[in-house]
Amino acid sequence: MAAGMRGVLGAALELAVPVECGGCRRPGTPWCPRCAAAVRDDPVVLRPRVEIGVPAWATGRYRGPLRTAVVDLKEHRRADLVPVLGAVLARSLLRLAEWEAIVPAARLALVPAPTRVLSARRRGGDPVTALARDAAARLGPRVAAVPLLTIAPWTRDSAGLSAGGRLANLHGAVRLVRRPPPALKAPHPGTVVLLVDDVLTTGATAASAVTALEASGVAVSGVVVLAGA
Ligand SMILES: [Zn+2]
Repeated sequence: MAAGMRGVLGAALELAVPVECGGCRRPGTPWCPRCAAAVRDDPVVLRPRVEIGVPAWATGRYRGPLRTAVVDLKEHRRADLVPVLGAVLARSLLRLAEWEAIVPAARLALVPAPTRVLSARRRGGDPVTALARDAAARLGPRVAAVPLLTIAPWTRDSAGLSAGGRLANLHGAVRLVRRPPPALKAPHPGTVVLLVDDVLTTGATAASAVTALEASGVAVSGVVVLAGA
């Protein structure tokens, strides 16, 4: 009965909004088996041009289906890609834990990298926070998304800027919106804090975010992004 209802609802939604694969535009599904197979579970280590000070990993390189899906999520408000990419992120976090690349801890806090408020509003919400929340929900009650960061509205869109230009653009622009929860403040052997973002290009945003968090007493263990350029 429930499955039948889902089938009916699925068909109705399909009529309302034509569904296509976020990776290859194939119609009928938000994420086709071929694109799912192209995105591997093993995260890759990133070596960003800007020194972040903590290890950085990506679920994959910024190309192919992953790139198309990230662009669709960010630029085209593909909310149906949040669970698709949230699952990809969650699998990479599990793998990092298996590898013990993340120090075992009782709790894991995923801090979304800051999105410029205006651009987030224009795009219909902050996709990075949605992604972190989705991944956290998949990983159980000990994992939580903890939005803490904002970015000043006077910063420019970083597209087209060099690594140095990006850093200068972000200087002093990333701030905490509230006091971090005590459990996140160092020393906190019980909680591991990871910064989460969709794309890491030069590392300038991640470096600015880690600096802002550390300045507020939050020790960041690493950065995990969907796609590394
Ligand atoms: Zn596809």
